[in-house]
Amino acid sequence: MRTLVKISGTLAAVVVVIVLVNTFRHTPDTLRQVAPVEVTVDEDLIARHLAEAVQFRTVSHQDPSLREQDQFEGFIAWVKSTYPEVNENLALTRLNDTLLYRWEGADGALQPILITGHYDVVPVIPGTEERWEQPPFSGNIVDGVIWGRGTLDDKSGVVGILEATTLLLQQGFQPQRTVYLSFGHDEEIGGPNGAGEVARFLKENQVQLAWSLDEGSFVFDDMLPGVEPLVAIINVAEKGSVTLDIVATAAGGHSSMPPAETAVGKLARALVKLEENPVPGGLEGLSASMFDTTSRYMPFLMRMMFANQWLFGAVLEKELAKMPAVNAMLRTTTAPTMLSGSVKTNVLPIEAVARVNFRIHPRDSVQDVADHVARVVQAPDVEVRLPATGGLPASVVSDWNSEGFGVIGDSVLETYGSIVVTPGLMVAGSDTRHYGKVADNAFRFNPLVVTQADLTGFHGTNEKISVANMAQGVRSYARIISNGAGKADAP
Ligand SMILES: [Zn+2]
Repeated sequence: MRTLVKISGTLAAVVVVIVLVNTFRHTPDTLRQVAPVEVTVDEDLIARHLAEAVQFRTVSHQDPSLREQDQFEGFIAWVKSTYPEVNENLALTRLNDTLLYRWEGADGALQPILITGHYDVVPVIPGTEERWEQPPFSGNIVDGVIWGRGTLDDKSGVVGILEATTLLLQQGFQPQRTVYLSFGHDEEIGGPNGAGEVARFLKENQVQLAWSLDEGSFVFDDMLPGVEPLVAIINVAEKGSVTLDIVATAAGGHSSMPPAETAVGKLARALVKLEENPVPGGLEGLSASMFDTTSRYMPFLMRMMFANQWLFGAVLEKELAKMPAVNAMLRTTTAPTMLSGSVKTNVLPIEAVARVNFRIHPRDSVQDVADHVARVVQAPDVEVRLPATGGLPASVVSDWNSEGFGVIGDSVLETYGSIVVTPGLMVAGSDTRHYGKVADNAFRFNPLVVTQADLTGFHGTNEKISVANMAQGVRSYARIISNGAGKADAP
């Protein structure tokens, strides 16, 4: 007995030592040494340009009859008159209302790159206009802040790229590698006629991009618990989506004599089972890499758990899964969104249907998700239906050790100083679902700082960006384009 106590005591001591050693070794990687680069920009002019861009109601509606074509034409004319250097030096191809510019590189043997954003925006939900501190399409600049729909998503991207390109042209920059710039007009409704057409056009012209950079994640301020420095998350993949119908059937009849089990009851049970049995996931691949980088900056307890996943892995994953934003990075998510049953209160439904939206993690295929759901809800008279369209699989995962990722990361370090750079997973969609088809690697990132408070602005109310933040975005885009393209030797 005494020997046993002794042995377990020694074991516990060994475990504690291992845990502590791992924790103390789990410190920030030696930060990449990147010399800061000063980029001088005219902040007031940039702010005025973004404010003007916001004033065009380039809204993508689900109902195409609500679309205001003159606003799109107005925006395109504005781009041409506001950025004369871009329009004089780059070749423009208009594909529907999307603008594709080509900046010829000196070395035709190098694969081109694409820098892109979209200028369409989501509608302002009717009735919420009053909640905006400044009218949503005013572009008002108040106390160093530019207000309005699109200031974050994604006119700041489009204007940022145009400003940066103008700046480089004014400095006489000549790219070594060909640079494409694309400004999409229908991202918010899936991008089929904008980015979709650009991808088709490039393919037709046998253009395969080395890499592309589209909207996506941001430089986050105070977003990860306990992480002090700014964190630039460069998304290297985006989730897919499929909506499955869970259908429960029963005999129906009058509600005065219901059977013990109705279609609604069966459906409810199926949904509870689905919520209790999420699609498997965890800390692996991309999300493991992201947390490995960022957890090194976290407080002791979190750092200890991340450094000792052999011991705390299960607890850690359980804790992380409680945070919806983090959970979405770990697995395919399950969201029942629409329900239907009987059309009358006194009629039992013959069919009760739940539409469940799944956002597909790169580790799963559409079929994997359908199989998981069928297994979980399995019961007599309960059926799972795949949509006729089949669903949208997750993107491929781009290489975060590739040159393109390095260029974007280093450019951000040049303008922001020593911040944390990490790959990430996009839980929403972007036009890169199209562009990715013609790029060896596809990245999704806006070099702008976003805080927790800013998040409500995306597709919501009071979307805004500070002038200083916007200017920093222009500086970063200028560095990304010049580092990505390389400077051609003087002739
Ligand atoms: Zn967007």
